[in-house]
Amino acid sequence: MRYLVLSDIHSNLEAFQAVLDDAGPVDEIWCLGDVVGYGPDPNACVDLLRSQRHICIAGNHDWATLGKLDLRDFNPDAREANLWNRKQLTSEHLAYLDALPETLVRGDFTLAHGSPRHPIWEYIIYSSTAEVNFQHFETPYCFSGHTHTPVIFRLQANSEAVADALPPVLNEAIALGSERLIINPGSVGQPRDGDPRASYVLLDDEAMTLEHRRVAYPLETTQAKMLEHGLPLRLVLRLGYGW
Ligand code: ZN
Repeated sequence: MRYLVLSDIHSNLEAFQAVLDDAGPVDEIWCLGDVVGYGPDPNACVDLLRSQRHICIAGNHDWATLGKLDLRDFNPDAREANLWNRKQLTSEHLAYLDALPETLVRGDFTLAHGSPRHPIWEYIIYSSTAEVNFQHFETPYCFSGHTHTPVIFRLQANSEAVADALPPVLNEAIALGSERLIINPGSVGQPRDGDPRASYVLLDDEAMTLEHRRVAYPLETTQAKMLEHGLPLRLVLRLGYGW
């Protein structure tokens, strides 16, 4: 089966649509949460996701729109955009987000928005955090998002505790291999690694390969909608920098 693994759409419809078009036909989407927040199209993004065959877990921004997280823990811009997203979302879409599980396991893969240890909140930025987290899931591989930065953490062979951070190879299917991995597909709707293009992963669980990809999208359209709705300027501008 061929899977589209993506995370952190953040109400960015243009980026999400570009990823779907670029990925081509897949058997299922695995969405790692934060469907909403930050961007201008929360309902359209939930609609588009729900129109596809998919599974999805909850992210911190999804929970915040539901009042399941304290918005005082968000920075002022994120908080303002989240409150705006909350106001737009239909009760049906809020109910959909409310029903999302914190983690899922599919075959050899565990899915967690932040980390398998603390699925909603923890950021796996450093190898040291990844090393601890390898003890918190049972499967060989884990997908997580939340940092908006594509990366692969690989637990070294013959080691219970040392992980390397590997930069993603773009547009090339690589073997998953025999070592345990924590794979971050990056963010669809608000990349933060200096590359403004939408980021995602294609997974083939028969060939046992994965491929990191980037695709440009008409971000000026997204920015214009954000300005129109009065969303924070810093959030508008950062899309152009990929930060
Ligand atoms: Zn996010």
